[in-house]
Amino acid sequence: MQNETMKKPETKNFIVKLKNALENQRPYLDQCSQKEVFPWEAVKALIPLGAWGMIYPKEYNGLGLSHYEYVQALEEFGRVDPSLALTAESHNSLCGHTILQFGSEELRAKYLPLLAKGTMGAWALTEAEAGSDAKSIRTTAQLKDNHWILNGSKTFTTQGSVAGVYVIFAVTALPNGEKGISAFAAEPGPGIEIGKKEIKMGLRASDTAQLYLNNLKLPQENLIGAPNQGFSIAMKILDAGRVAISGVALGVTRGALEWTINKIKNKKQETRSLRTRWAGKDNPGLKAEQKIIAHLTARLHAARLVALHAARLFDQKKRYAFYGCLAKLLSGELAMQATTQLLDLIGEEGGRIDCHAAKLFRDSKLYEIGEGTSEVQALVISRYLFSNPELLLKPPNLYDFNEVGGNK
Ligand SMILES: Cc1cc2nc3c(=O)[nH]c(=O)nc-3n(C[C@H](O)[C@H](O)[C@H](O)COP(=O)(O)OP(=O)(O)OC[C@H]3O[C@@H](n4cnc5c(N)ncnc54)[C@H](O)[C@@H]3O)c2cc1C
Repeated sequence: MQNETMKKPETKNFIVKLKNALENQRPYLDQCSQKEVFPWEAVKALIPLGAWGMIYPKEYNGLGLSHYEYVQALEEFGRVDPSLALTAESHNSLCGHTILQFGSEELRAKYLPLLAKGTMGAWALTEAEAGSDAKSIRTTAQLKDNHWILNGSKTFTTQGSVAGVYVIFAVTALPNGEKGISAFAAEPGPGIEIGKKEIKMGLRASDTAQLYLNNLKLPQENLIGAPNQGFSIAMKILDAGRVAISGVALGVTRGALEWTINKIKNKKQETRSLRTRWAGKDNPGLKAEQKIIAHLTARLHAARLVALHAARLFDQKKRYAFYGCLAKLLSGELAMQATTQLLDLIGEEGGRIDCHAAKLFRDSKLYEIGEGTSEVQALVISRYLFSNPELLLKPPNLYDFNEVGGNK
């Protein structure tokens, strides 16, 4: 019997083709980061491969990848360009995945094929006064004459100024007075004004913008899921998003390691040397760079195993959220640590604005922030542990673990 997450030949081809296509785009992507422009040419180049519909089923023009495969594809994105990787992840996992998992058949049929063809998707939850505490959003949606009228503002929306499809969260009140958050699908047009484009320290080729919603009028059918279920929808989407974004952060670490190893190999003179006590005439000892690279590689492999384990559990519809938080915490912090240590290793060159290692260092920070900061991951992980201490144990069967561990 074929394991559902076993790599199918066509997926292997997809990942190889994706890797080559991304490599071809590398010079252009580096330029986009330098000039701070959205990489439309790379987006277009990846349309024929199916990169904009990686996790949508084939009936919506998607590739129908499992999350096990998708996490590996995102690692390839992260390895080449952390900005385009965030675009791919947020477009697929946040915007499209919300419509796929919770939208009506009409919304799925309308928007998923568009997204798969490279119309960019954005997901707007965060507001100036509501980041980690997403329940505090203030944007409102009122039902009037069979239409929802949205008012408020969103901040730090990835693809905010380039999207053709938006998923927007707003506070709704039911006729019985019950209040909650609901999710809506929207398109650019009257009622959505693009505000300030953020000038960021890193991820400069990823578009991030504020949105102003001024009497945005949406047909009643644009509600995603049931009214007042939006908070639960957002949390479930973020649970899966954490597994996906771990793949990106792992790719950033791998890309940084590859770059540094090449750099060291090509360097004639020895870099800083940290010899251990056992170093002798016949034993040259351990150099600082070897020690750093070996430790980071060990942690890369460990974090990847956790991320792929979470992805397998997701694919098997088993409880995965605990492992998704572990993967996000490990991989986000690892990307930051790896790029910091590797920047130290290469010395003064790292202080230049055009140094690739410096770019990766700046790009990495987001992976400790977006889709739940490291502190929020730690909070959620500890909550799971205090109610299920057995989560400290090795899962009874890595591929068959459904007793405890969070949301399906
Ligand atoms: C480049 C970028 C792209 C983004 N893209 C999107 C997007 O597409 N869509 C979207 O909706 N949002 C997006 N965001 C927003 C992102 O999700 C938030 O920045 C994130 O959720 C943190 O919220 P905050 O920045 O308001 O920080 P806050 O929530 O104000 O947190 C500030 C600090 O306090 C800590 N903290 C908060 N609560 C606790 C707690 N209970 N216990 C301990 N520590 C705590 C945090 O870890 C952090 O260190 C993006 C952000 C960035 C930087």
